[in-house]
Amino acid sequence: MKRRTVYLALCEKCGLPKKITKYAIRNYWKNNITKDEYCSNCHHHTEIPEHLRKIAAELVGEAK
Ligand SMILES: [Zn+2]
Repeated sequence: MKRRTVYLALCEKCGLPKKITKYAIRNYWKNNITKDEYCSNCHHHTEIPEHLRKIAAELVGEAK
């Protein structure tokens, strides 16, 4: 069984946790393709702040 590293982002409106995969951080967050995360519960878009983007990049080992 393959283990995947998954991180959580919280919806700023309702607090629902959303799973963010390492793959998504590496490919979408880092390249600014994903500007926000959509909440399936309250349909709110939570903007990803720049500092969180940086931390996430460091967590997946992409920061230099
Ligand atoms: Zn929400």
